Amino acid sequence: MSERSDLVVIGNGMVGQRFVEALRARDQQRRWRVTVLAEEDRPAYDRVRLSAFFDGVSAEELNLHTPDEGVELRLGEPAVGIDRARRVVTTAAGEYPYDALVLATGSYPFVPPVDGADLPGVFVYRTLDDLGAIREHARGRRTGAVIGGGLLGLEAANALRLLGLTTHVVEFAPRLMPVQVDEAGGAMLRRYVEELGVATHLGVATSALHPGPDGTVAALELSDGGTVDAELVVVAAGIRPRDELARAAGLTLGPRGGVLVDAACRSDDERIWAVGECAAVDGTCHGLVAPGYAMAEVVADRLLGGSATFPGADTATKLKLLGVDVASFGDAHGVTPGCLDVTFTDPATRTYAKLVLSDDARTLLGGVLVGDASAYPTLRASVG
Ligand SMILES: Cc1cc2nc3c(=O)[nH]c(=O)nc-3n(C[C@H](O)[C@H](O)[C@H](O)COP(=O)(O)OP(=O)(O)OC[C@H]3O[C@@H](n4cnc5c(N)ncnc54)[C@H](O)[C@@H]3O)c2cc1C
Repeated sequence: MSERSDLVVIGNGMVGQRFVEALRARDQQRRWRVTVLAEEDRPAYDRVRLSAFFDGVSAEELNLHTPDEGVELRLGEPAVGIDRARRVVTTAAGEYPYDALVLATGSYPFVPPVDGADLPGVFVYRTLDDLGAIREHARGRRTGAVIGGGLLGLEAANALRLLGLTTHVVEFAPRLMPVQVDEAGGAMLRRYVEELGVATHLGVATSALHPGPDGTVAALELSDGGTVDAELVVVAAGIRPRDELARAAGLTLGPRGGVLVDAACRSDDERIWAVGECAAVDGTCHGLVAPGYAMAEVVADRLLGGSATFPGADTATKLKLLGVDVASFGDAHGVTPGCLDVTFTDPATRTYAKLVLSDDARTLLGGVLVGDASAYPTLRASVG
C-alpha cells in the first residue's frame, strides 16, 4: 500500500455514515483518503426515526452527518458502475479510483407487481423525500391504505392516521407483524390497532389498484373480492438489498440477493467490502441497523490491519407501535425442536405474553410480549 490510499464508499445512509466515522476515529495516521458517493441529495439521517417527521421533527433534527475535512462527500451523485479491472467507480460526473471500495447502498422497498402500483398517489416509505411526497399528497384527501402489516406497514399506517386519513392495512399473512409475533400476539395487536380506527384486512392480497376520475389512485381491489377506498397508498411489503452495482460488476451475491461477504464483510474481490442492508454476511442480509453498525466497525478495523469479524445479529425487537408495546426476542416462534410454550392472555389489561422454554422447561429460549413489554429487558437477558 502506498503512503495514502484511496477509499471510495458508495452510499451515505445510516451504516455508510457510521462506517466513515469509525474509520476516521481509528485512522490516526490518515492512511485513507475517503470519498463518499451519495445518491440522496442530503447527508445521512436517522432513518429509524423517519416517522418522527410526521410529529413535526425536521429533516435537520434527523441529521446524522458531521462535516469532516478528510472526507469528500458528493451528494446527489450516485455511482453507476464499478470497473474492477481498472479499480474505478463511475458516476455521471466522473471516475473515482479506489484501493478499497465499501458498498453501503442499503435496500429498496419491494413493490409487488400488481396492476396500478405505478399510479400517482402510490408511495413507498424509505426516505425523507418519500415522506415529504406522502404529506403533500395527503392534503385534502380523506382515505388511505397501507399494503403490508409488518413493522414498517404499521408505522406507515400511524403516519396516515396522523395526516387525518381514514386508514386501512392490508396484510397477506393471517396476522399483523407476522415476523415478530405469533397468532395470539397478532390478535391482541389487531384489537389495539382497530380501536385506534385503523381497519385491518388480514389473509388477503391486493390484486389491483384502481384510479379515480383524476387519474390518481382511488381504490384497492382485494383477492377476496372486497375493495377498499384509498386516495393514498403506501406499499410496505418488504425490502430487497440494493445489489445492482455488485451484480453488474460480477461480484458473487447471496442466495437471496445482497453482496455475498464473509465474516470480515469482504466480498469475493479482496478490495471490495459491503456493510449494512446491502451485505449478505455468510449469505444472510440483515434489515436492522444494529447489525449494520457492527459490520461498519468490522470493516473500519480491517482496513487498518485488524482482524475483527462480524459477531452475529441479535434480532430482538422492542417497540411502541401506534402506542402499543410490542416485543419479541430469541426463538419467538418456538421453532427449537421439542420446545414448550407458556402463554398468558389478559383481556382486561389487554396484555399477551408467551415464553418459549427448552424441552425440560429449564431454559428460556425466547418470547413475545404485546401490550406490556416492561419485562422485556429482564427476559431478554435471561435467554439461554
Ligand atoms: C421508517 C423506517 C423505520 C425503521 N425502523 C427501524 C427500527 O426501529 N430499528 C431498526 O433496527 N431498523 C429500522 N429501520 C431500518 C434501518 O433504517 C436500516 O436498517 C438502516 O437505515 C440501514 O442502513 P444502510 O446504510 O444499510 O441503508 P440506508 O440507510 O438505506 O442507506 C443506503 C444509502 O445508499 C444510497 N445508495 C444506494 N445506491 C447508491 C448508489 N448507487 N450510489 C450512491 N448511493 C447509493 C441510498 O440512496 C441510501 O441513501 C427502519 C427503516 C425505515 C425506512
